[in-house]
Amino acid sequence: MTTSTIKAMLAAGVIATVALISTLTAQQPREVDAKILKTAGTAKDAMPGTWLTYGLTQTEQRYSQLKQIDETNVGKLGLAWSAPIAAAGGRGGTEGTPLMWNNTIYQSMDNSIVYALDARTGQQKWMYDAKIDPATQSHMCCGTHNRGLAIYEGKIILAANDARLIALDAISGKELWQSKVADINQYYSFTIAPRIAGDKVIVGVGGGEYFIRGFFAAYNLKDGSLAWKFHTVPPAPGQPMEDKDQERASKTWVGDWAKYGGGGSVWDGLVYDPDTDLVFAGTGNPEPWPEEMRGIPKSEWGKWDNLYTCSIVAVDAKTGKLKWYYQTVPGDAWDLDSVGGFIMADIQIEGKTRKVIMQAPKSGVFYILDRTNGQFISAEPFVPVNWVTGFDKKNNGKPIINQTAYYDQTNSVVMYPGGGGAHNWAPMSYNPNAGLVYLPYSAGSYTFNAAKEPDPKAGGGAHGLGRGGQDKRTTPMPIWGPDAATVGRGGLQARDPKTNQIKWVKPGRGSGSTGGTMTTASNLVFQTAGNTLYVYKADTGDELLALPFNVPGGAPPITYMVDNTQYIGFATGTQFMAMKVGGTAQMPPAPPPPQFGRGAGKGAPKGPPPPPPVEAPHTN
Ligand code: CA
Repeated sequence: MTTSTIKAMLAAGVIATVALISTLTAQQPREVDAKILKTAGTAKDAMPGTWLTYGLTQTEQRYSQLKQIDETNVGKLGLAWSAPIAAAGGRGGTEGTPLMWNNTIYQSMDNSIVYALDARTGQQKWMYDAKIDPATQSHMCCGTHNRGLAIYEGKIILAANDARLIALDAISGKELWQSKVADINQYYSFTIAPRIAGDKVIVGVGGGEYFIRGFFAAYNLKDGSLAWKFHTVPPAPGQPMEDKDQERASKTWVGDWAKYGGGGSVWDGLVYDPDTDLVFAGTGNPEPWPEEMRGIPKSEWGKWDNLYTCSIVAVDAKTGKLKWYYQTVPGDAWDLDSVGGFIMADIQIEGKTRKVIMQAPKSGVFYILDRTNGQFISAEPFVPVNWVTGFDKKNNGKPIINQTAYYDQTNSVVMYPGGGGAHNWAPMSYNPNAGLVYLPYSAGSYTFNAAKEPDPKAGGGAHGLGRGGQDKRTTPMPIWGPDAATVGRGGLQARDPKTNQIKWVKPGRGSGSTGGTMTTASNLVFQTAGNTLYVYKADTGDELLALPFNVPGGAPPITYMVDNTQYIGFATGTQFMAMKVGGTAQMPPAPPPPQFGRGAGKGAPKGPPPPPPVEAPHTN
């Protein structure tokens, strides 16, 4: 063999190896890591056209850079494909925001089922069922919804309804690890979308309407082991305190509250800020709801804050140690969970750039804080409210509770906002060009009174709350906020965070319990509400499209780009729908017209439909 032959063979081998490596590279999709997530959805997106985290960006603005769909062509939006994604035997609606990675849609459904669909055709790649034991459903306080998934280094992370955290192989759908985060038999459950923080996944528990001690926790993505846990309610009196933050919280509780666990669930709002390396969580009501049943003597109602319930808490992402907290409703007695999703942004306020975190929770107040230190910036009602009369600016904006808003077994109160809260889980979005937040909301009132003391041995179910009753106060409570004529029973509200005031409103497009919003760089806002996809101009609110998709239960919409085509995608109760400009696929047939009245059908009263029912307090 000559030297030249060897050289030629070596060269051929090298070429073959290079060819093999490039083939492998082409087949291996680029994985999502902390660096990719930092750019996800931003102008510097390393994977443009994807949707890699619950709120698109880690700031959860749901503001997409895509602008192929714009004002000139959005009127031609039609169905590109639909795919069956039926959930099996759950106890909830479809609420999941999908992810899109590697030309694949990842959609979580009611009852902890996950679908992977080809983003171009809807063809199913795999389906995973966490196989929730139907017997445990009665231990889930607030249904079997699932709000979304997380993706990291080839793993899809699911928070299953029975409080298990499960990692799936994103390509094959095979289970990689699972962790039991809490005990479903102790009434802990999950409805939340997990969020990624560095090399950890953060998750928070539901169950605050039952008797739990709430918490959120970080798990190592590599193997599903626990990294840290932050309790939103202190240990029971006499039990050892985990740290000084729990000790501080314990001084804000009194009486025999601990027999009910305390509440403080974390069922929706959760974000990670890589710039400050902080995790922010929103916490739910103390349990049970009436002050008297949490062991607070009547003379002391309103004097016990019950930390860290109904709060925004910021913890160090590496250690889970508390950095700051702001309590949106001290000593809550009205199920005003501070749990709705967060949006982070850098906003010019009074001539300064502020790194803010914004939340519009059930309380009906839009809170804006400095996320670096928890400093209060502003809080304004976005619907009529009467539980609060102001915010004490000298005390970092601590809410001033209306002291006549408390109730017991003889005194009822009519509270604004209504049951279910002014804004529940339906995601809001923020368009930095238009400078507006899009907030689906509900407005109304609800009568609270206390009923029989719940039995802690019964586990869950009661909050010590009665329904109805008469508001016997002689002086009506002042109602504060935008006037009822402006906001109606509910709608979509565009809000300017610089002034914390309404810019425009679309009445009748409220949050109810479905849908959500997303906005794009082409000055559009997309909203699913009921069984219709609405599109508005982001700056003015002019309606550009109302496209009925017939199938009820539209979950939050996303947008993504594959093969140079921009799609709008969202789940419904039975199908995933993907829309594109010029889409011509047949929409599913319209459902039969609704029938109204008890025993609707034969002999049911005809005529206009009644107003929508007042939503009873519910959800986590
Ligand atoms: Ca609650």
